[in-house]
Amino acid sequence: MIASIEGLSVLVTGGSKGIGKGIALAFAAAGARVTVVARTEEAATATVEEINQAGGKAMAFAADVTSRTRMEAAVASSVEHFGGLDVLCANAGIFPSADLESMTDDQWDEVMDTNLKGTFISVQAALTALKKSRAGRVVLTSSITGPITGFPGWSHYGASKAGQLGFLRTAAIELGKYQITVNAVMPGNIITEGLEDMGQDYQDQMAASIPLKRLGSTGDIASAALFLASREAGYITGQTIVVDGGQVLPESLEAVG
Ligand code: NAP
Repeated sequence: MIASIEGLSVLVTGGSKGIGKGIALAFAAAGARVTVVARTEEAATATVEEINQAGGKAMAFAADVTSRTRMEAAVASSVEHFGGLDVLCANAGIFPSADLESMTDDQWDEVMDTNLKGTFISVQAALTALKKSRAGRVVLTSSITGPITGFPGWSHYGASKAGQLGFLRTAAIELGKYQITVNAVMPGNIITEGLEDMGQDYQDQMAASIPLKRLGSTGDIASAALFLASREAGYITGQTIVVDGGQVLPESLEAVG
């Protein structure tokens, strides 16, 4: 356990399911007080109940990351309940598939609004509170898809995930004077409700192409997020950690064996 997480106030967008839920559970287990944000209140509340039953401290807040008003309210609620905000995990994201040839403007906009503009809005909404923390942390959930790899149907998604990294490099410079660090985790294929919807064939094919021969767990991503939020990582900013079981390494199918 990373001891310096204890007592921190952490807000996780998309904290009700999948990777975000894994992040919320891991921070709570490390002694942080966690605000779980998602659009669906029941799912966010269920995650909070799971945390509280395990002896942790958490609260739920229903908000859409595309709404500045709701994200400002989420941060205000977090500050009110937990006395401040130290860490923002901007994790909420969607990955609907659409081929480039038939993609509509609305399909493009929905993904960019949630994944990229939602990141910008979440960070801006948290900024005043993070500045007061004096050791604020922003941890983005990007992806290997976009910054490093591609996958048919995800040109909009890949652009949004690569865009997050462009955003973080300048954000890290601008926010450095407040001692706020901005970093990102880049997951490979992680078993979540969202990925399960893509079917067993997709999961089997992906596992076969990964040197560690398994998909990742939400805990694998949460461990990297915990580290980036810790005091121990206080001199790391504008950086990324790929957590993918070596998925981006093979040059060919032969190379992965
Ligand atoms: P997931 O299981 O589908 O969970 C998505 C979470 O985000 C849910 O809590 C969802 O709750 C919330 N969410 C979606 N849209 C939102 C919005 N507009 N405002 C607020 N919350 C919203 O997805 P996941 O697989 O855990 O993915 C989480 C993040 O990891 C995403 O950024 C994704 O790009 C990234 N990622 C995932 C993988 C993977 O293999 N799973 C790989 C690389 C990167 P509501 O629907 O109730 O709002």
